[in-house]
Amino acid sequence: MSARRKTWQHWAGWWLVLGLLALAVPTAAQAPVEVVRQGHVAADSLYQLFYLPIEVPAGTTEIRVQEDYDHAGGNVLNMGIYDPRGYQPGTPAGFRGWSGGAKTTFFINAQTASTGYVPGPVGAGTWHVLLYPSTIAPTGINWKLTVTLVPGAAGQAFRPTPAPAVANTRPGWYQGDLHLHTLHSDGRRTPQELADEAVAQGLDFLISTEHNTNSANLSWGTYARPNLLLINGEEVTTTAFGHWNALGLDYTTLIDWRYAPRDSAIARYVAQVHAVGGLAIINHPFFPDTVNRFRFGVRHFDGIEVWNGRWDARNERALAWWNALLRQGHSLLAVAASDTHTAAPSPNQLGRPRTVVRASSLSRAGIMQGLCRGRAYLVANRPIGLTLTARAGTQTADIGDTLAVAAGHAVRVTLALRGAPAGTVTLRGEGGVLAHGPVAARGTTALHWRLPAAGLPHYLRVEVRTPAGAVLALTNPIWVLPAPR
Ligand SMILES: [Zn+2]
Ligand SMILES: [Zn+2]
Repeated sequence: MSARRKTWQHWAGWWLVLGLLALAVPTAAQAPVEVVRQGHVAADSLYQLFYLPIEVPAGTTEIRVQEDYDHAGGNVLNMGIYDPRGYQPGTPAGFRGWSGGAKTTFFINAQTASTGYVPGPVGAGTWHVLLYPSTIAPTGINWKLTVTLVPGAAGQAFRPTPAPAVANTRPGWYQGDLHLHTLHSDGRRTPQELADEAVAQGLDFLISTEHNTNSANLSWGTYARPNLLLINGEEVTTTAFGHWNALGLDYTTLIDWRYAPRDSAIARYVAQVHAVGGLAIINHPFFPDTVNRFRFGVRHFDGIEVWNGRWDARNERALAWWNALLRQGHSLLAVAASDTHTAAPSPNQLGRPRTVVRASSLSRAGIMQGLCRGRAYLVANRPIGLTLTARAGTQTADIGDTLAVAAGHAVRVTLALRGAPAGTVTLRGEGGVLAHGPVAARGTTALHWRLPAAGLPHYLRVEVRTPAGAVLALTNPIWVLPAPR
């Protein structure tokens, strides 16, 4: 062996040893760092946003947050987190998760995270934990935050598995639940459990609407199947100003909730939903009476959830509001959804109620276009189905369509109702009830009405109710328009 070769091997060996030491020393030598912050939220700080800076050193592999506060007196201190890419409202790049009041502890690392939170590298720099009090007892809230920063190598980063945009390409009427929650916000079921239950309930599609996070949307591809379309959405949630659903989003889209009901702000955020082909729906506008009452301008929205869970007086108010807006000339979509959080027994059971949509395919684009055109009816549960058709001369219109009526023509309306218990049907226009009829229990009811040419309404819609008055089915309007001569 020559002296030259011996020297080369000698130094190469030393570099290898030094390199291994450089890799090994930080993980072996550093222990997790604990950062503790404490404070008091005064009783007059309701709905204020508190951002707590946390310095995260390079080489951190996991961040763990523990929130402690006195829950007595109904205190709720909601929690979320932003990474060094920023926390300014409307700039979602730094968003790393939100659990509202549903969790008091969470973690994030490169591969995985608590439900509601977004996995990925824990970048060095200033992170911000967001605390948002939505209920404060008169004595205020004493809180303590313990943040644990775990050093180590990051490893392979999380890869999203978004749901496929198409389940099948056949046109048809498809049944869906447009509002639901899993462990990714304040629901009690896993995404797997919800998908299994959806198939058992005969649902063709679900729209995922977790509160203020897109974390569930990052993994719906794991649970999609040929007979179940999973569509991304978000329930944009403020306790102060109400809830609304952003439906039909890209899995990466996050719609911010941190603004008051100024028209300029809400218009900008609804525009973000429209930009990806989605719809903005006002949720449970009168539900409950003390908080969550809807306070944004209705003119920015595409529709109203007139039916949330089991039929009740608050739904009746929402239906009356939608009806009044229709009469004023606003063509808003009506939707029904369960807002399910837990398995039965619950007034909010998956698929009860549900929205049935006429779509060109069982796909995100097909369902969103069907909803956008008002091609939808709402039913209390699975067995109920209906067909509503209006004809004038040679023209025919289904729900959501416009019927062009030549001068002097009457309009013939046909309703075929399936699977409903005994009750009453009413045909309605802007002037109120145009006609009514009985429902034969559980069979098929066919009703035919003729509306004379004089004084035709601007729209037609149907309500089906039990003898006690609970809604069993409800259609969006067929629009009636005098045909140009
Ligand atoms: Zn809500
Ligand atoms: Zn909800």
